[in-house]
Amino acid sequence: MSARWAVRLFAVLLIAGYLALPDFHVSLASNIGLYALVALGLVMMTGVAGMTSFGQAAFVGLGAYATAWLGTAGAQALGLTALHPALPWLGLLLGCFITAAVAGVLGAVTLRLSGHFLPLGTIAWGLSLYFLFGNLEMLGGHTGMSGVPALRIGPWTIESPRAMGGLIWVLVMALIWALTNLLDSRPGRAIRALKSGRIMAESMGVDTTHARLKVFVLAALLAALSGWLYAHLQRFINPTPFSLTIGIEYLFMAVVGGAGHLWGAVLGAALITVMKQQLQDVLPQLLGVSGSFEGVVFGLLMLLVLQRYAEGVWPTIQRLTARARPAPQKRAPQSVQENTKEKMQATTPVNTSGNTSGNTSGNTSGNTSGNTSGNTSGNTPVNTPDHVSPVILKKFLIARTLAAPGTIVLEAQGITKRFGGLVANQDIHLAVRAGEIHALIGPNGAGKSTFFNLVSGVDEPSAGTVRLAAQAMHQQPARAFAALGLCRTFQHVRLLRERSVLENVALGAHLRGEAGWLRAMLRLDRNEEAAIMAEAQFQIHRCGLTAWTHTDAGALPLGAQRIVEIARALAAAPSVLLLDEPAAGLRHQEKRQLADLLKQLRAEGLAILVVEHDMEFVMNLADRVSVLDFGQMIAQGTPKEIQQHPAVLQAYLGGVA
Ligand code: ADP
Ligand code: MG
Repeated sequence: MSARWAVRLFAVLLIAGYLALPDFHVSLASNIGLYALVALGLVMMTGVAGMTSFGQAAFVGLGAYATAWLGTAGAQALGLTALHPALPWLGLLLGCFITAAVAGVLGAVTLRLSGHFLPLGTIAWGLSLYFLFGNLEMLGGHTGMSGVPALRIGPWTIESPRAMGGLIWVLVMALIWALTNLLDSRPGRAIRALKSGRIMAESMGVDTTHARLKVFVLAALLAALSGWLYAHLQRFINPTPFSLTIGIEYLFMAVVGGAGHLWGAVLGAALITVMKQQLQDVLPQLLGVSGSFEGVVFGLLMLLVLQRYAEGVWPTIQRLTARARPAPQKRAPQSVQENTKEKMQATTPVNTSGNTSGNTSGNTSGNTSGNTSGNTSGNTPVNTPDHVSPVILKKFLIARTLAAPGTIVLEAQGITKRFGGLVANQDIHLAVRAGEIHALIGPNGAGKSTFFNLVSGVDEPSAGTVRLAAQAMHQQPARAFAALGLCRTFQHVRLLRERSVLENVALGAHLRGEAGWLRAMLRLDRNEEAAIMAEAQFQIHRCGLTAWTHTDAGALPLGAQRIVEIARALAAAPSVLLLDEPAAGLRHQEKRQLADLLKQLRAEGLAILVVEHDMEFVMNLADRVSVLDFGQMIAQGTPKEIQQHPAVLQAYLGGVA
């Protein structure tokens, strides 16, 4: 059964259940839906973006109290009683507004916190909002507020628990659809990239602060929506359901269900709600005494589940069902056909210099055929809709015109970097030109990676200036460097290990697309998305990774992961490419293919700066070599000059020369 059919079956069961089941079960299902909404937000926050929150119950409270207040005392205070039928909807607006404002401020403060300080921060505001609800006279204090008006849609009053339940689940399903779309899109890849830390995401052009805040506000709004529905379902509220304890339970739901999976939110909400229910009924009978023992047993069960199924129950189910049914028809290995390849190359801006087309196609077929011939037989064209040709797709991606060969595109002017007393880079001058491969060599610890970080915006020099595309880049974040066409790989590979090679490479094209959250949620981004996928597949193919297109990046050999990083950088249509030890872990044949690829990119007009230890590789490839030793530039010149340079021989061979 495909995922789509499973969802349809679930929807049919839900509808049948709401029509046929007794009230008790309907209200149980409604509660599960309400919890699932909050857990969905937590899946986005915790599982996808890597931020933990214990404080979501407080946002549920904001949504519930806003509408409860506006529907009762608030309407009178503001003289809005005439608007009676519309009050719940105004309440929703008010709740969303307040929640977004509060979450925006809290997020701006707490999201700066790193490590375990962020969850501690969420506990702090979770507690304070809860006490605020209980202590504000206008919100009814600890007794709460009653008389919350019923929800009305046009002429219908949604009053019965059954009707409210229907509405709740329509919203749950619609939101799962929208969030699934979001995750399968340009902004979705950016959200996923947050989990691997900021450096990589920023280097791909993602504004991580902004993206984190947006995810945080989204999760808060989902919680507020749940609160709004809750208030109109119960028609009465008090602070109890918005306490920190419940906040912890929400997090449990997301984690137990499988924090990285949207359907895990529904599963987790269902499991925990039903389990609590059962424990409350069964335990007193079993133990023969009354008392809230369910808390204890519940805690122990949680420990067990987390220990046994650390990734959550949903992935476990997915694995089991995948094993039970015959292996799904694997998509034929996707690669670019020879004939589409020509067209595709026309779409990649790395070719925009125009003078190299003959050269390029010759090289590509040469250096990738050995590696991928086994898979090209499938002949499935790239993942583009049949009716859209790659050439047409081109117009959906932002392209870049490259500087004329020989132009200095990246320049370090006297940059120095101190780490405390250690001078990792001292007064370094270095210029990288378009159409040139510049190698940076030097013994371990010489300061090469430090230099890379300085000229890519990952780190700020202590002194000196970095110029990129003729602009001085003082205090600029890495994403500003990316926007100007600089893309890089990392010595210590930074990939999303649990995502496919395709998705990882597509992230590289982040700055070439424009689709925002709303467009992605409503699936209005499909043309741009197809163009990004086509571009990613082209780069994957060109780097000889076609066989691994749909494999999780973390499952590849380390050498291949480095090549994935190169493909990801190329998907950005860079003008400057920084490669930190790209050939490490490659076999001889693979190194030759890599060298061919780099020569081809040079011919297309890219400026390439490469750190590499393999001297044969460097000397055969580079136009110019710079040598670092103990943070100082000891020599610069052609490979031939460097090989005979006394200071270099001294550094490498200890003066034996
Ligand atoms: P290379 O890449 O040439 O092997 P690095 O640039 O990684 O060298 O390191 C150069 C020196 O700077 C090393 O002594 C290293 O320990 C030090 N270093 C690098 N990064 C940091 C940091 N963030 N904090 C302190 N010292 C650092
Ligand atoms: Mg290094």
